[in-house]
Amino acid sequence: KPRISARVGGIAESATLAVDAKAKALKAAGRPVIGFGAGEPDFPTPKPIVDVAAAACADPRNHRYSPASGLPELREAIAAKTKRDSQYEVEPSQVLVTNGGKQAVYQSFAALLDPGDEVLLPAPYWTTYPEAIALAGGVPVVVGTDESTGYLASVEQLEAARTPRTKVLLFNSPSNPTGAVYPPEQVEAIGRWAVEHGIWVITDEIYEHLVYGGAEHVSMPAVVPELADTCVVLNGVAKTYAMTGWRVGWMIGPADVIKAATNLQSHLSSNVSNVSQRAALEAVSGSLDAVDAMREAFDRRRRKIVELLSAIPGVSCPEPQGAFYAYPSVKELLGREIRGSRPQTSVELAALVLEHAEVAVVPGEAFGTPGYFRLSYALGDDDLAEGVRRMGDLLREAK
Ligand code: PLP
Repeated sequence: KPRISARVGGIAESATLAVDAKAKALKAAGRPVIGFGAGEPDFPTPKPIVDVAAAACADPRNHRYSPASGLPELREAIAAKTKRDSQYEVEPSQVLVTNGGKQAVYQSFAALLDPGDEVLLPAPYWTTYPEAIALAGGVPVVVGTDESTGYLASVEQLEAARTPRTKVLLFNSPSNPTGAVYPPEQVEAIGRWAVEHGIWVITDEIYEHLVYGGAEHVSMPAVVPELADTCVVLNGVAKTYAMTGWRVGWMIGPADVIKAATNLQSHLSSNVSNVSQRAALEAVSGSLDAVDAMREAFDRRRRKIVELLSAIPGVSCPEPQGAFYAYPSVKELLGREIRGSRPQTSVELAALVLEHAEVAVVPGEAFGTPGYFRLSYALGDDDLAEGVRRMGDLLREAK
């Protein structure tokens, strides 16, 4: 018998975490690496949130197990926040607090999928989705998009991929890795199509507050209320409040799905750390001033990175409208000679960029679309400019 089960042995290492780890290791070895790999804000967690957490450590209430579904006051605050930010009305009992958005992703698929159920997964997709789908026994059915449609999937494309086994559509806007934001009318059209065909929607809204220019985020069940009974909303504090390490996310769904997922969580991980939940309570019930300031900085960096990337011959970068990622195509550079080698794939080109320019980017293979780079612009303005300059100088050598 194999030592590792086929189910778990089939899981690929998270490519984004791997790039980040490699960049950090090179840095620790004294190399001046600039990392565009990490998907986390470079800002500190706002002080009032940290202060509440510090006080929570000393409060004996937080030393004990609490309900697996989350602190009642946090579930209530998340329901209130969902109404405030998305105009989507839910009961606190429809909220399950999870160990980061990642656990909400996994538990949603685990609660909905039987072996062989198909999930429509628009690509480029966040690298965790196909693994979570497969781990739950489901089959990811990739719906490919590219820069020609701003990385947006149409109803026609989804319909062409639908089969009698389709159970779920995974929807992520603003998108990691492309920064694409679906316009409200397209969100509505997709929601109506899902209702018409009895397809569940898992909508990952973790970047809801990070939209720029004229882009607008809308929540699918808010614009298509008929979807509420077959929809799970995923969210968390990580990206909005610079709280990636605090590990608080949530899923919102119909009562039976939330009950099933809570049963799973009660055996898997129980309650999320009470101290983190107290911090999240302060975050979601407070104002959005901190994210407004972060959004301003991200917007400035977004415009800068698109300008710098677009000036590199062979790199073509559509303007992202949300999250904090740029997703340029590097297809024109593949197969060309740079410093004596001829990278054929974006994985090979990214390795070359790390080696010679000391710049870490995540290759598109991690997101189901070879031929692209993902660059997070959640890093300081000076590093951003210097990193893209170094990469550009190297890529300009392509013959
Ligand atoms: N969903 C998307 C699209 C993400 O990019 C991330 C984090 O990178 C998450 C969910 C999960 O975030 P966390 O588990 O840190 O809350």
